[in-house]
Amino acid sequence: MRPFTSTISLEEARRRLDAAVRPIARIERVRLEDAAGRVAAADVTSPIDVPPFARSAMDGYAVVAADTAGATRSGPARLRLLDRVYAGQMSTVIVEHGTCAEIATGAPLPAGADAVVMVEDTATGSRGDEIEIFAAATDGHHVGRRGADIAAGDRVIASGELLSPGRIGALAAIGRMDAEVFAKPRVAILSTGNEVIEPGGMLAPGQIFDVNRFTLGAIVSAHGASAEPHRAAQDTVAALVDALDACAAADLIVFSGGSSVGERDLVVDAIAARGGMIFHGIAVRPGKPTSFAEIGSVRTPFFGMPGNPTSCLSNAYILLVPFLRALARLPPHEPRTIRARLGRRITSAVNRHQFYTVRLRDGVALPAFKGSGDITSLSQADGYMEIPADQSVVEEGASVTVTLF
Ligand code: AMP
Ligand code: MG
Repeated sequence: MRPFTSTISLEEARRRLDAAVRPIARIERVRLEDAAGRVAAADVTSPIDVPPFARSAMDGYAVVAADTAGATRSGPARLRLLDRVYAGQMSTVIVEHGTCAEIATGAPLPAGADAVVMVEDTATGSRGDEIEIFAAATDGHHVGRRGADIAAGDRVIASGELLSPGRIGALAAIGRMDAEVFAKPRVAILSTGNEVIEPGGMLAPGQIFDVNRFTLGAIVSAHGASAEPHRAAQDTVAALVDALDACAAADLIVFSGGSSVGERDLVVDAIAARGGMIFHGIAVRPGKPTSFAEIGSVRTPFFGMPGNPTSCLSNAYILLVPFLRALARLPPHEPRTIRARLGRRITSAVNRHQFYTVRLRDGVALPAFKGSGDITSLSQADGYMEIPADQSVVEEGASVTVTLF
């Protein structure tokens, strides 16, 4: 055994991670269909006016506004109908004083017209080509001016903005079929341990199915990166060094297991062979045996997560998610929190910041934490509460803040 000689606080671990992250610089082009949730890598200015022509915002009649002055239901203006214009058509008539054209929403305003009266404020007159107008319209009424939405030269997207559905819509409106975005960080995920095998196979005595590759993969995909799973590595320094080399092309490497202090916990030795350790051991529970390092001459960031599935996933939420999002240039994740009453007294390790999983039933938080090795500590939890390092007990009935998954 090689016991931890020291651990660092959670705050210190966060500081070192913040200092180490270098946001992705690679850029790629994606089709608008695939752009949701991506981060724009360049400003985009519009080459056209949107709408590209003055158009009606209502179904009604295109008129010369001055002709409708003073019009009311009892004293309507009477205009001669010249044409019917539908969306996608250009009218060839000129709407002069005393005339109008029926117009559909989205249709180009005919020449001469400067306002639209909505159909509800009109009636067909006794003569078939006469329209009665019951309401006065002012210049520009119910007309979408050319360029009113976006003018040619306007910036519609700024570099660094998240491509939301609305921003993807703005790109479509100016005729773009693709967007320049930052590449998703490639994250190599690899489990270590002689006992770890792929789900789907048959367990030989002493073996377990790989859990961490899948929980880590789910976290990575949910936070703007692409997961690249690797085959589990055996517990030898040579196999772990080979595994590190196999992950060299990634933007981030995440191992699990082998990061503690047992004879077979050799990740530390592999890191020593290929890079520099930034920290090893954090005063949190679960998840103390977590390491962070930089590998190779390009200093690829490396997380060594604990093997215990709950420790691994808990630290993935707490440390890996913020790092991933900064790497991917995504805004920080803001999980929802709620206040709840604690349903049972819990005790916590002193000198370690504890993340304690709970289930919520009718506004009451009930302990869900079983053990660091039990994935049901998380799969059956709705969220977690935090117990600071200097606190050892939370009493039944206490009001607690629960961060929801
Ligand atoms: P280690 O950190 O390698 O000492 O592993 C601690 C515990 O987690 C042991 O019981 C391992 O069998 C278990 N473990 C390690 N890796 C995984 C994994 N990928 N999936 C499920 N359990 C694991
Ligand atoms: Mg192991």
